[in-house]
Order: sequence, then C-alpha cells, then structure tokens
Amino acid sequence: MASSKVLMIGMGAGAAVAIAIAVAAFATMGGSATTTPAAAPDNNNAEGAQKVKVIASFFPLYDFTRQVGGDRADVSVMVPPGVEPHDWEPTPQQIQRASSANMLVYNGAGFEKWVDAVGANFTVNTSEGMSLLNNEDPEEQKEHGLYDPHIWLDPVLAKHQVDKIREGLVKIDPPNADYYNANAAKFASELDALDSHIKSELSSCEKKDFIAFHEAFSYFSNRYNLTQHAVHDSLTPEGEILPQRLEELVKLAKDLDIHVVYSEELVDPRLAQVIASEIPNGRVLTLSPIEGLDEQEQAAGLGYLDKMREDVANLKVGLVCS
Ligand SMILES: [Zn+2]
Repeated sequence: MASSKVLMIGMGAGAAVAIAIAVAAFATMGGSATTTPAAAPDNNNAEGAQKVKVIASFFPLYDFTRQVGGDRADVSVMVPPGVEPHDWEPTPQQIQRASSANMLVYNGAGFEKWVDAVGANFTVNTSEGMSLLNNEDPEEQKEHGLYDPHIWLDPVLAKHQVDKIREGLVKIDPPNADYYNANAAKFASELDALDSHIKSELSSCEKKDFIAFHEAFSYFSNRYNLTQHAVHDSLTPEGEILPQRLEELVKLAKDLDIHVVYSEELVDPRLAQVIASEIPNGRVLTLSPIEGLDEQEQAAGLGYLDKMREDVANLKVGLVCS
C-alpha cells in the first residue's frame, strides 16, 4: 500500500500531464504506532474501577465511541491519523492489540475487510439492521463490495451507529449502563441539532448538484435532497483519469453551471484542480468524507460534528445558498 500513484491526466489537446501523488507520505505512518496507545488498565482512578478497552476502526467510529464511552472507556483507533482508510490493512501488531480489547467497534457494510482477521472478544457492527444503498461506482464495488458504506455522513444514520455503540458498551460493562445511556442520549441530541442545522443551511440554495471527489455522499444526498457526482469514478484502478470522463465532467459542470470541484483532506488536491481549471471560474474546495483527519486537525481536537459543519459551510458555496 505504500505505493505512489501516478495520475495521467488527458488534456484534450493530446498533452498528458503526469502527477506523482505522494500517497506514500501518508502510508509511511501506517506501520508505526502513531495511534493513541492503549493505556494499561487504570486501577487507580477515583472509582477504583477498571476502564473498558475499546478499539474503533476509523475516525467517525472512534469519535462516536469516545462520546458514548466518556471517561469510563479507554478508546483507541485502528487506522492512524492522516491515513485514508479505504484500502488500509492492519499490521500483525495492530491486529494483536485490537484482539486484546474488550470491544471492537466498526462501520460494517463491507468497509473494514480486515475485521474477521482480528478475532475480537466482542464486536459491534454499527450498520447492523440498517437498510443500505448499493455501491454505484463499479470500481468501488469491485474494491468494497455490494454496499455503499458511507452511512456516517447522514446524521440520522449516525444516530443508529451511536445507539449500536451504546448497546455494546452496556453489554460489556453493565454497571455503567446509566452513564452510557445518558452520554448516548446527549450525543444523539447533538446529531439532531446537526440535522436541523444542515436542513436550514441548505434550505435556500440555487443548485442541487455537486461534484465530490469520491462517491461518499449518497446517504447524505438522499437525506438532504441533493445530487452527487464524483471525480473518482473517472479514474482507472491505476489512478489515471480517463480523458473522455474528464471531458464529460467538464461538460456536466458547464451544463449545470457548477464552479466548485470538491477535493478531500487525504487526497492530492491537484486532481480536482485539473478539472476545476477546465471549468469557467472553477475552484477547488474541501468536502470531507470524514474518513480520517489530517494531523493538524487531529492535534486541534476536531470532531465529527465540527467536520460536518465545515462540510456544510463549503457545500453552501458550491450550491450557491443564501
Ligand atoms: Zn469512502
């Protein structure tokens, strides 16, 4: 996975620009123990009680689990900060650490292909019982299976995930059930507030169509009545953009009077820039799939709710909302 991707971008005139993308810069962090170390069981806290050790697969699940677990759970994350989690695979050490936790929280819907390899003591599949959308992008389908896993980007579905985490914590640590129930209820009300915020912020927009980097926003778009287009479905598995698809995307943007192409914090923005440069008054903004924070964001202590609000602010620009 530590390979650099080379993007060959056809420019219509026949000139091809090759952009080497330093995916490796992120990947090099993958093998080292940059995650929050799993602390030894704390037998000396005020209650004299031992915290439950929980490991979450990637950022949103980590944040949700922290919210519900509060100071009774020692939560760490599998996919390190700054690493794109789609194709991530754990090292044997990471698998070992995860298998020693009391509980493993994961998204499901085919996102974490490595979950079975962990052999965790107790697992929480946060998408269990949810009706899932099919993966529309054939490339994504080949890599990640039949279902679209990006449920966390819909705050209403995120509430379902939070409830699954609450259930799991109550099951493995019944004496603290009231505490977990109260934390989950509090966070659920914050997700309700986020849902209302999004509805009101996007209530008077000129457009419904936007160009995301990859097809992460299907659940979000269904919830808020938007139409997602994606750059990623124009790429070959080798990371080359097909000249014909580039032309199609540029035509789509012109036809729909779109001037913003969205990129992501964990991908090279130059790909979106190439498309934006072909569009009149085109520009690139970030629309985060919240699959992982970069190191700066991690250091600033940003959470899921902050990131969702950032996304909404940037979407408002592209959708031309008042
Ligand atoms: Zn994704």
